Parts: sequence; C-alpha cells; structure tokens
Amino acid sequence: MFDLSTLNPPQREAVSHTEGPLLVLAGAGSGKTRVITCRIGHLLDKGVPAENILAVTFTNKAAGEMKERVRELVGRQRCKGMVISTFHSLGVKILRRDIERLGFKKNFSIYTTSDQLGLIRQALREANIDGKKHDAESMLWKISGWKNRLLRPEQVVPRYQDEDELLACGLYPRYQSALKACNAIDFDDIIMLTVALLQEQPEVLDHWQERFRYIMVDEYQDTNSSQYLFISLLARKYRNLCVVGDDDQSIYGWRGADVGNILDFEKEYPGCRVVKLEQNYRSTGMILEAANQVIRNNRTRKEKRLWTDAGDGRPIDLVVALDDEEEATAVVERLEMERYRHNLSYGDFAILYRTNSQSRAFEEQLRFESIPYVLIGGMQFYERKEVKDALCYLKVIDNPLDEQALLRVVNFPRRGIGDGTMVKLNQWSLANDCPLLEAFGRVAEIDGITEPTREKVLAFHRLISGAAAEFRQRGELAGRVKALFDRLGIEDELYRTIEEPAIARRKVENVEQIINSMASFEERIPGATLSGFLEKVSLMDEDRFSGKDKKEHGRDAVTLMSLHASKGLEFPYVFLVGLEEELLPHRKSLDEGVSLDEERRLCYVGITRARQHLTISRCVHRKKYGKLQEREPSRFLAEIPERLLQLHDGTAKKTVSAEEQEKLAGDFFARMRAMLE
Ligand code: ATP
Ligand code: MG
Repeated sequence: MFDLSTLNPPQREAVSHTEGPLLVLAGAGSGKTRVITCRIGHLLDKGVPAENILAVTFTNKAAGEMKERVRELVGRQRCKGMVISTFHSLGVKILRRDIERLGFKKNFSIYTTSDQLGLIRQALREANIDGKKHDAESMLWKISGWKNRLLRPEQVVPRYQDEDELLACGLYPRYQSALKACNAIDFDDIIMLTVALLQEQPEVLDHWQERFRYIMVDEYQDTNSSQYLFISLLARKYRNLCVVGDDDQSIYGWRGADVGNILDFEKEYPGCRVVKLEQNYRSTGMILEAANQVIRNNRTRKEKRLWTDAGDGRPIDLVVALDDEEEATAVVERLEMERYRHNLSYGDFAILYRTNSQSRAFEEQLRFESIPYVLIGGMQFYERKEVKDALCYLKVIDNPLDEQALLRVVNFPRRGIGDGTMVKLNQWSLANDCPLLEAFGRVAEIDGITEPTREKVLAFHRLISGAAAEFRQRGELAGRVKALFDRLGIEDELYRTIEEPAIARRKVENVEQIINSMASFEERIPGATLSGFLEKVSLMDEDRFSGKDKKEHGRDAVTLMSLHASKGLEFPYVFLVGLEEELLPHRKSLDEGVSLDEERRLCYVGITRARQHLTISRCVHRKKYGKLQEREPSRFLAEIPERLLQLHDGTAKKTVSAEEQEKLAGDFFARMRAMLE
C-alpha cells in the first residue's frame, strides 16, 4: 500500500483528489512530479486497473525516470499495462493501431530531421527553385510551425509580403505528398495525425478515452496548442485530468508552447481543484533564495514564494575566468576538488549551458583529465554518419517504400551505381508510377543502362528484397542484422575508406553498438520486431532535448547538457556556466526584445536544478571566429544578492592572498590525492 504520510498536506490533497480535473501550479522542486508518481500509486491502491492510467511527460529521459520512480513505489508487476510516455510515443502508439484510416500503412516510417531536409530539397529541385537562396531548414521550420498549430496545407494563409513564407506555403502540400508516397510521417505529424484521427474517428476516440480514464501531464506549462488539444480530447469523457506545471519554467515559447494553457486551465475546467505547493524539497536555502531573487524580476507571472527548511547550505561559488578555455579548466578543477572533498561520484555533477556549442571546451577538458561524461543533445550517437547509413539499411528492409533511406544506402558500401543510373531509375519510377525499389528490379525495361551496371542494380535489388523477406519472418534480430552487415561488408568499407585507423575503428565500434542496442532491445521486449526497434531509435533521435547516448548509459559520468534539456531533472552539484550578456540572456532575445523573460526563466530553471551546491561561471573574454572578444556579466547575475555569492576571480591570479595561496595548495593536494586514488 502506498503511504500518504510521506507527503505534505497540499501534496496529499493533490494525490487523493483522483476524480475530476486538478491543477497543481507550483515552483521548482516543490514535488510536482512526485505528486504524479504518488497519484499513480494511490490510484492503483484504490483499485484502478493499471491500463487505465496514462502519464505524459516532456522528454524520454523524464519518462524513463518517472517509470523508474513508479516501479520503485509499487513494484514492476503492478505497472503492467500502464502508459508513461512522451506525447510523441503516445501518438505513435495510437497511430500504429489505426493509421490505416488516414490512408497510411501500418509499418510507416518516422522521418528524422535529415530525412525531412532531403524531401524539402527534392521538392525545391522539382519546383526549380534555387536551393542556395532558400535554405531547406527555414522552409522546414515554417512548415513545422504550421503543423504545430494543426494547420493543414489548404488551411495556411501566408503573409504575402514574406517571400519565404509564400514559398514554404507552396512547398507544404508537395512535402506532405512526398511523405505519404514514402509511407512516412515526420515528427510533427505524429501529433497532428493523432489529433486528426481522434477528431475524425469517434470509435478511435472512444477506444482511447475508455482506455485512459486517469490522465496526468507533467510540465504542462510547455505544451503547445496541438499537444493541448490531444490531451483534452482524451480527457473529455471522464475528465480525470491532472496537470502539473510552473509558469516560471515555461521555456519553450520559441517553439510554440503556450504558457496560457496552464493559466487558462481553470477557465477550461470550471470548478477544477487547484493546489499550490510552496515548500521546496530540492535545494538549500541560498540556492533557492538566488532563484527567487532572479525570477521576481519577471513582470507577468503568478506570484509564488518558495521556502525550504533544508538550511542555508554553502554560498554559491562565482568563478570569473579569463576566457572560455580557462572557464572550462576552472570548472573541471573545482569539480574534481568537490568530488574529492565530499566523496562524491561523477554522476552527482552536471554542467549546464545555454547553447550546445559551449560544450566543446568542457568536453575537451574533461577528456584531457580522463573524466567520464555524458553529452546530452548536440551530435549524438544516432546522428553519426556511419550509424545513420547502417540504420538506413534496416529502414529500407523494414519499409521498402522509404526512398530517403534507399537513396542513402545505394552506394554504401560503394557498388558502382552512378548518378546517371540513379537519375534514370528515378525518372522511370516516376513515369511508371512505381516505387523506386521496384524500378531496380525492373531495370531490364529501362533504356540507356549498360549491361554490367544492370547486373549491379539487380544484385542490389536481390539483396534488399531477400533481406526484406528474411526479416518479415519472426525470429531473433541482432544475430541476423550482424550477418547482414557482414554480408554487406560495412566494416571492410569503413576500414578501406578511412585513412586514420583510430577513426575507422571508432566508426566500426559505432556500427557494432547498433547491434548491441538491438540485442538489449530484444532482451527487454519479447517478440520485438525490426519496426519496433526503428521506432524506438527514431523517437530517441528526435528527442533533441533529452539524454540518449546509450554508450555512456549506466556509467558513472558527469552530465553535460543545455538548460533546455535539464528541465525537471536534479543534481547534487550543478555548474551553471557562461553567465554573460548575449549568452544568457541570449543574443536572440536581446535583439528581438520579446523573450527576455523566457531567458530569465531559463536561468531560473538552471539555478533550481541544484540540490546541495551551485557554481556559476562567466568569462571576461570569449573567442569568436578565433578572436578574443570582451564579455559583460549577465544581468541575471546582478539580480543575485552579493551575500549569496563567493567570488573566485581567476583573472586576478597575480595578486594571490595568503588565504588564497593556502586554498590553492589545498586544491593541489586534493587533486594529487584524487589522481592517486
Ligand atoms: P521541477 O519543477 O523542477 O520539475 P518538481 O516540482 O517536479 O520540480 P520533484 O522533482 O517532484 O519537484 O521533487 C523535487 C525533490 O523533492 C525530489 O527529490 C523529491 O523526491 C523531493 N520531494 C518532493 N516532495 C517531498 C516530500 N514531501 N518529502 C520529501 N521529499 C520530497
Ligand atoms: Mg518536475
């Protein structure tokens, strides 16, 4: 039985109010996520079947952590059938069941950003538009914006003075039909199509409404309008909807999230129960005070005051460094020192930054000191070229209509099918309205291709269709994939084409990791299929805001991530780096002047990730295109009262006080001891 006495009175109120709408609006670290996990325990105790429970969170990492917490609370057995997932995984689940009603096949592919860009470029070429003048990424950004507002191509009304927008508007329908021809959907479609399905098909809606009678949503302040509609459709019948969030942590306005969703919840659900939580259980007094002092400068917010009885804790260390390299050195040095002094593990530390490119200096320094780290966001495992190439084989085999994947693997490893041949195959497939792969099989009917090339094309076709037939049979996956990769000669190709053996080896290891990942996927999921595996990978790949480097998984490592990715998480020791004007607040917001408040919220999110200790750093100079540029301290730094800060000025090294000297010597010995450990 779940013990309600571990909760404070308002938390208990939220947990036990199970019927009818409920809003928990509260500051960072006040136990909102904990309320959700405890509610799940309480619902199960009340006899609600696990399959009637749905909890939605923002990132895969957050969903994973929530699952873990619930399992600990109630035991694995009682979780069977319950769904704890992101909006996107939930959408995919719903689409897999009924997408045929929207004219797609069940084995649809999920296109990642690079697949999407490929389609956009193709559409630009087909429309004879100069791809150099109009970059595919901005086109995609606009289309994505429409999709997030659930606007279909025919519903878009472009602003006519905006040339790019007009163009994007013209591309949008072509892009959608190209997706459909590949039996693929993109990341925004997951939500858009799910909403369409629920709106247009009453039986489907009814099925899921009956299934999920109790719904909980974490980080509600960051839902956008389509996610909002998605959830309200599901909740409409039983109205057992509990949303938790913090308007001060709304940091996805730039992606269309609407903090209004949380502020208007009471209007949408009149008579809903509203619970406020004010006690913070995460951070020490000084950290919390700094966070409160920063966020109070935002004008439009619901006033809340967080308090803690955890004691003051240590002051916040403020490190001032000469430049970015020195900042990284100082941060890593302090990290080692803290680890040694307080007997911590690397996993207790996180380094948080505003932009992903800031990670480089820290990565280099950590590598130099042989400190293990996990990089979250940025160039990830599944973004690496060799990994993508190998995965594309699996994609084509799983869904032979997936032309983007097909185009990617035709010449990997190189097999001498030239561009000219590809153009002919492509034209023929368009003219005869047949899928590209089929054209490969019917190459004998195509003019102007030499006999030896025909042979190569046919061999490729045999290879793919043979493998596709093989994988349609149920059976274990990892071993078959290993055999397939061997047959393809992927490893040999990597060693042959890459001069530097160390790099080739790393790439080969990456390809090997796919097989490892597949094997552990099979272990976890009985009857796992290739589609299931690829689906997991696509969702992970697109989860730009959460952790995914499986290679590092489970290792004791320092976490490096952007402030956006850190939402909802907590670490005993946090380094919040680069607190400078133009970085935090970011240049973007200063120029446009609109989202300065959002930058302040990001800063608030960063500060409130820390449990025991926070270190803030800033540079006096920073390199830009290789040249040093002067930097101003962030205005948010000035909002933190001085009494909460302990300054460590790395720029004034020449005048070291006796006290400082003693400390430096202490640091030195600490580091020596750490090295000898
Ligand atoms: P955020 O806004 O950052 O998402 P949150 O409001 O979701 O924060 P939680 O992550 O649920 O906060 O809780 C913060 C920490 O406080 C967690 O370590 C949690 O276990 C702890 N905590 C929450 N409530 C209590 C409680 N009543 N007693 C003891 N610890 C608690
Ligand atoms: Mg939370």
